[in-house]
Amino acid sequence: MNIQSAVLEGINILKNKSILSAQLDTEILMAKALNKNREYIILNHDKVLNNENLEYFKKLVHERASRKPIAYLLNKKFFWKSEFHVNKNTLIPRPDTEILIEQILEVTKNKHRLKILDIGVGSGCILLSILKEKKNFYGTGIDICKNSLEIFKINAKKLSVSKRVKFYKSDVDKFVQDKYDLVVSNPPYIKRSDLKYLESDVLKFEPNLALDGGLDGLSVIRKVVKKSSELLKKNGKFILEIGFDQKSKVIKLLNNKGFYINKIVKDLAKNDRCIVSTKI
Ligand code: GLN
Repeated sequence: MNIQSAVLEGINILKNKSILSAQLDTEILMAKALNKNREYIILNHDKVLNNENLEYFKKLVHERASRKPIAYLLNKKFFWKSEFHVNKNTLIPRPDTEILIEQILEVTKNKHRLKILDIGVGSGCILLSILKEKKNFYGTGIDICKNSLEIFKINAKKLSVSKRVKFYKSDVDKFVQDKYDLVVSNPPYIKRSDLKYLESDVLKFEPNLALDGGLDGLSVIRKVVKKSSELLKKNGKFILEIGFDQKSKVIKLLNNKGFYINKIVKDLAKNDRCIVSTKI
């Protein structure tokens, strides 16, 4: 069978599962199966596949048909300016989270040697992107999930910032090391009863720990706000990602813990997604 016929079959299989990006996904998976790029696939339709490549391609299409996200099939995701290693133990970095990077770069403009803490660091996409941009900043990442810290370590190496990061496996409540100039967090913030409405790519494959915000969606945010108020230096900045309907409740939590609200930033879909505040 040649590349073209195999790709057409793949597209059909994914279309039958109502996967909207069927063609793109199939081409990406063929490229992965042949260890080539997508351009090669498009330019070599007539090339005949050997059995091993064809079987690998079919396996990948089959997994995608079960809704496994492309990022987990390729074990990588591009975020901000770098490619990150990911697997089922880490949330897949989201384009919306890049607004946190923009805000951090803005509030740390002309600052040097800052110490940054990322609570629930996951793949490290936020903290490591910042360290890559700011060559004299130091970072600490904590996560409750041991397996995600392994991925974080791989990414710190990949982005050549290992010398400037520390990481701890810790529950947010129990972490007591040091004081920081800036704390960032993209905590799990989905209401438990709403998890079932997530698309199955997310619900079936991404770590529940990275999504489940407890009964009211705010249980982890509450802990993160409290801990940040303890670990931030005076005038330190706190950058937090929130759910689209959590703005007022989180502002109250922040005010109660001594934060001044600098601004609320909307995401690409115009939902409130990020709060920038200052510990006073
Ligand atoms: N900090 C990581 C990210 O933004 C992980 C967040 C999480 O697991 N909730 O992608």
